[in-house]
Amino acid sequence: MEKEYKKPGRILDYNKKLPVLEVYTCIQSEGSRQGRPTVAIRVTGCTHRCWFGAGGWCDSWYTSIHPEKGIFTFNDIIKIYDENPEITEMMLTGGSPTMVPDLCNENQYDNLMFYELPLYLI
Ligand code: SF4
Repeated sequence: MEKEYKKPGRILDYNKKLPVLEVYTCIQSEGSRQGRPTVAIRVTGCTHRCWFGAGGWCDSWYTSIHPEKGIFTFNDIIKIYDENPEITEMMLTGGSPTMVPDLCNENQYDNLMFYELPLYLI
């Protein structure tokens, strides 16, 4: 029997709290987008349990091993872009953002259209 996968949907209620713990502006410090102004969005609820050998366990337990509850809505994400029109980038990080597919999906639609959406998985 073929396994069925849930298709990512969209966020229907922009006032509903999402599994998002942090939303803030910053300068990207990693990768090919280094130096660009960005909005960092950190999701929570990761069920992975990464062990990095000498580096120890996951460095953000508050999003994974002992996850805190999300406090931001999608309207909060829209608001921070409205307040910072010069920012066109987003760093969606975690807490494993791919575990929140509706949020990844919604970012691609009408209100937030990004040129690129870098995903930082760890
Ligand atoms: S995927 Fe990221 S947040 Fe999840 S356990 Fe691994 S390092 Fe931590």
